[in-house]
Amino acid sequence: MNESGTPTGGHAVVIGGSVAGLLAARALNASFEQVTVLDRDTLPADPVARRGVPQGRHVHGLTARGAAGLNSLFPGFLDALTAAGAPRADALADYNYYLDGHKLARAIADTPNYLATRPLIESLIRERTSALGNVTVADSTEVVDLIAAEGRVTGVRVRPVNDEQAGHILDADLVVDAAGRGSRVMTWLAALGYPAPEETVVRTNVVYVTRHFRQEPGQPGGRQAVVSGAYPANPRSGAAVRQENGRIAVFLAGMLGDEPPTDDEGMRAFAATLAAPEIAELLGTAEPLGEAAKMRNPASSLRHFEKLDRYLDGYLVVGDAMCNFNPLYGQGITVAVLEAELLESLLRDGTDRLARRYFAGSARLLAEPWALATGSDLRFPGVEGVRNPEDEQAGQYLSMLRTAAATDVGVAAAFLRVANMLAPISSLFDPALAARVQKSAPQHAPG
Ligand SMILES: Cc1cc2nc3c(=O)[nH]c(=O)nc-3n(C[C@H](O)[C@H](O)[C@H](O)COP(=O)(O)OP(=O)(O)OC[C@H]3O[C@@H](n4cnc5c(N)ncnc54)[C@H](O)[C@@H]3O)c2cc1C
Repeated sequence: MNESGTPTGGHAVVIGGSVAGLLAARALNASFEQVTVLDRDTLPADPVARRGVPQGRHVHGLTARGAAGLNSLFPGFLDALTAAGAPRADALADYNYYLDGHKLARAIADTPNYLATRPLIESLIRERTSALGNVTVADSTEVVDLIAAEGRVTGVRVRPVNDEQAGHILDADLVVDAAGRGSRVMTWLAALGYPAPEETVVRTNVVYVTRHFRQEPGQPGGRQAVVSGAYPANPRSGAAVRQENGRIAVFLAGMLGDEPPTDDEGMRAFAATLAAPEIAELLGTAEPLGEAAKMRNPASSLRHFEKLDRYLDGYLVVGDAMCNFNPLYGQGITVAVLEAELLESLLRDGTDRLARRYFAGSARLLAEPWALATGSDLRFPGVEGVRNPEDEQAGQYLSMLRTAAATDVGVAAAFLRVANMLAPISSLFDPALAARVQKSAPQHAPG
């Protein structure tokens, strides 16, 4: 965009029309004359799960920071979510929240959550992005190659999914890869003679099972949601969440090879081992709506594009293609929002050296959610990943903090504000909070 507000960037192509791709298109729209979003799926008119996004059938938490960010990118977004039936709930006042086996003290934490299905969130984002004048969302179109010349990207090769023989090159001044975990970024960079970015990997081997049930009054546990987090003494987790369309979604998750079953009896037995009794109670009485879905997430991974000294100009990577988190912490959508905010702000200074500036900024942005998720995962002895000795003391303090949160609402609220990405992890080390933690939980927490 130049000083008079006219787009100057030419044509931008976004690979992948899911959450991260659509949000990137929203960020690009003021700075590019034309933005084309390509997805190989046939994108549904209604908010339903689709093939290219298998995680769409699973429970998706939207952090309070992510919700606020969506509302800034698309004013009125949260009203649209509630109008579609998604309950608005405070993560402490309206939940039964079990952290490290302790039920948290209840109070208002000022962490508004919107309990929507992922297909609803995606469809509202798609509706709004498609309505932007210079954005075209083209479905049933696969990007099969990246085209480059003289050190910068010049386009993509595309083909309709129903015709293997057809295909053409679409010229582009910028390509944003939002193709998710299956992105071909590594293959394409290698084919063009560029080095691959280093990857940090934390292997958790999480298996996720979700099933939907008809809502009954008073379920789950008289709240909008019940959450039972994993902790070293019990690496199983689960949640029951009221959502739009009169449904309650229940998810169960195991780690390190422990797989939740998908049959009625097996799910109930698995749920009975959680700290939250409400989930097994619900599974004993609620009417299922369809079969359970299962998904594996072997590892979290973070790609360090910022460390590359040679890179292809005009090729950005966003969303799960860049950083794929353990789903248990509900961060993926929020990170896509933060990346879109970053991109929009960088484009105010034009497109010069955009890839370098973007990767430097996104590395800073990802550090916090990555530390939050992997700091928690690396508490489990079987999880593979690099453990820093200096983190051990912090880990012991945070275990005490989780215990203290059961009795001290101030500590519980502080923890949930960090989990909702409204406050940095450093806020948990504030001396006044640390004094409360010491007072409430003088013993080292179990596990
Ligand atoms: C089990 C599970 C649970 C999760 N729970 C949460 C949660 O609670 N909260 C949260 O915030 N996040 C959660 N996530 C993560 C969240 O789903 C993602 O972070 C979010 O959807 C953003 O993903 P994305 O847009 O980068 O990629 P995706 O959603 O995976 O989309 C990639 C898109 O690219 C398209 N595509 C791929 N290749 C091509 C190609 N070559 N050409 C054209 N199109 C292509 C696909 O069709 C798809 O539409 C969860 C993930 C999993 C696996």
